[in-house]
Amino acid sequence: MPGGFAAGIAFPASIEEAAALIAAAPRVLPIGAQSSLTGGATPRGDVIIGTRALTEIARLGDGRVRAGAGVPLVELQRVLAGDRLYYPPVPTYDGAFVGGTIATNAAGPATFKYGSARRWVDAITVVLANGAVLELQRGDVTASADGWLELPPTAGPRLRVPVPTYVMPDVAKLSAGYFARPGMDLVDLFIGSEGTLGFITHATLRVVPLPRRCVALVTFSSDAQAVRLTAALRARAGTAGGGAPALDVSAVEFMDSRALALVPDEIFQRTNIARPPPGAGFVLAQIEVRDNEDEVLETLADVLSECDVDADPHVVQTGDDRGVARLFALREGVPSSLNALIAATRARLQQDVEKTAGDMIVPFDRLEESLALYRSTFERDRLEYAIWGHVSDGNMHPNVIPRSLDEVHRGRTAILEIARGVMAMGGAPLAEHGVGRSALKQQMLRELYGDSGIDEMRAVKRALDPDWKFAAGVLFAA
Ligand SMILES: Cc1cc2nc3c(=O)[nH]c(=O)nc-3n(C[C@H](O)[C@H](O)[C@H](O)COP(=O)(O)OP(=O)(O)OC[C@H]3O[C@@H](n4cnc5c(N)ncnc54)[C@H](O)[C@@H]3O)c2cc1C
Repeated sequence: MPGGFAAGIAFPASIEEAAALIAAAPRVLPIGAQSSLTGGATPRGDVIIGTRALTEIARLGDGRVRAGAGVPLVELQRVLAGDRLYYPPVPTYDGAFVGGTIATNAAGPATFKYGSARRWVDAITVVLANGAVLELQRGDVTASADGWLELPPTAGPRLRVPVPTYVMPDVAKLSAGYFARPGMDLVDLFIGSEGTLGFITHATLRVVPLPRRCVALVTFSSDAQAVRLTAALRARAGTAGGGAPALDVSAVEFMDSRALALVPDEIFQRTNIARPPPGAGFVLAQIEVRDNEDEVLETLADVLSECDVDADPHVVQTGDDRGVARLFALREGVPSSLNALIAATRARLQQDVEKTAGDMIVPFDRLEESLALYRSTFERDRLEYAIWGHVSDGNMHPNVIPRSLDEVHRGRTAILEIARGVMAMGGAPLAEHGVGRSALKQQMLRELYGDSGIDEMRAVKRALDPDWKFAAGVLFAA
């Protein structure tokens, strides 16, 4: 997001340094790796508190690890892999930090099997606006029957927070303002609060044994076929009859033909993958393998033939980490190629042309309908576009490819219209990237919960941060 400016920047190396800084500063903005796609990590005159010096990792040895907020997830995975362990909720951009991903309740491809960051956070250390340090373990503080979260005395005299009464949409992942549910845990209030309620310095995370996985890149010829294929993979991943799933699918990613057209030839050559025929797209399925890999591949072949997939899939078997990395590089090539294109357009036109994208999620049975909505809206408005995303969750990123500032403006209007359609389907337009400072996303948040919902969020903020010290202007206007 353009136009950032800061009063200063600090990288506290301990909880005490962070607490002293926060108690003294009038306005602060926590940041992690600044990979936010919503302007949440862009300062507006605040003192930036970066987490990059909070990098310790302590193995607790009980299926949990304690990490500093500034640990990049790629580094966390590297350390865990040494002990054959794995932290599942990693966004596509794995350079994001532990603190940033908790603050946005980030999700990623494997959310389908494992859920978003929320499910994996057991405890957090947070510095509040008054400089008090909260050590919060799940179960320590839960909401009372009359809807209050009473903070422990260490937080300050008689601090209590009203639990909002809005009902969150029932979708696989959500990053849409403050979590709210009767009887909720105080830890959950900070997860997804985008730096507006406190500064997370450390977290205790649950980890699992490192899975063995194979990956299949499958060509599809229409949205209907991609949805059918994903539905079949989801069905095989279920354990309705008890026992192990037929296919232990952890993620299914989707790239339409327009998204693949953005990716330059060099990336295809480097990854050793042929471009699909015109009009075709790719589905990338990640499947965990416990013992019999041949059986897994046979079941996958059955699913593909059941879904009338003609082209042979490109399969990378377990153990071939470089092959897996090549397929993921192709997937990551989609957003990075669009970003490069937008940067080139901006330089050429000397206008504030910027990324114009949605982060939509719908219940899976409305997926095909939602894809039709994205396409028909953009095509009606004669906007260039591409669609990719975490299809197994029904979470798609419809992206405008703006060629002028006018198309950015028209693209935003189209995305707001799409957001309304998605909400009418029981979905949400704020699945995983958060709200940040984006005026468009703040409007979506208001439409999702109404003015009264935003007022309830303001009441939460006021209780914990009465001087509006933290991340003013993020989520809603100060
Ligand atoms: C190429 C690309 C792909 C991406 N793919 C995904 C994806 O698959 N899924 C997904 O969920 N996101 C994705 N993102 C978005 C982004 O990576 C996530 O939002 C990520 O969680 C941000 O982490 P960060 O460390 O960069 O945080 P930042 O961008 O630095 O901060 C994000 C927000 O968190 C707050 N914050 C940061 N650290 C703290 C802290 N210690 N305490 C309190 N508040 C804090 C900030 O104030 C800000 O509001 C992608 C981004 C890119 C560029």
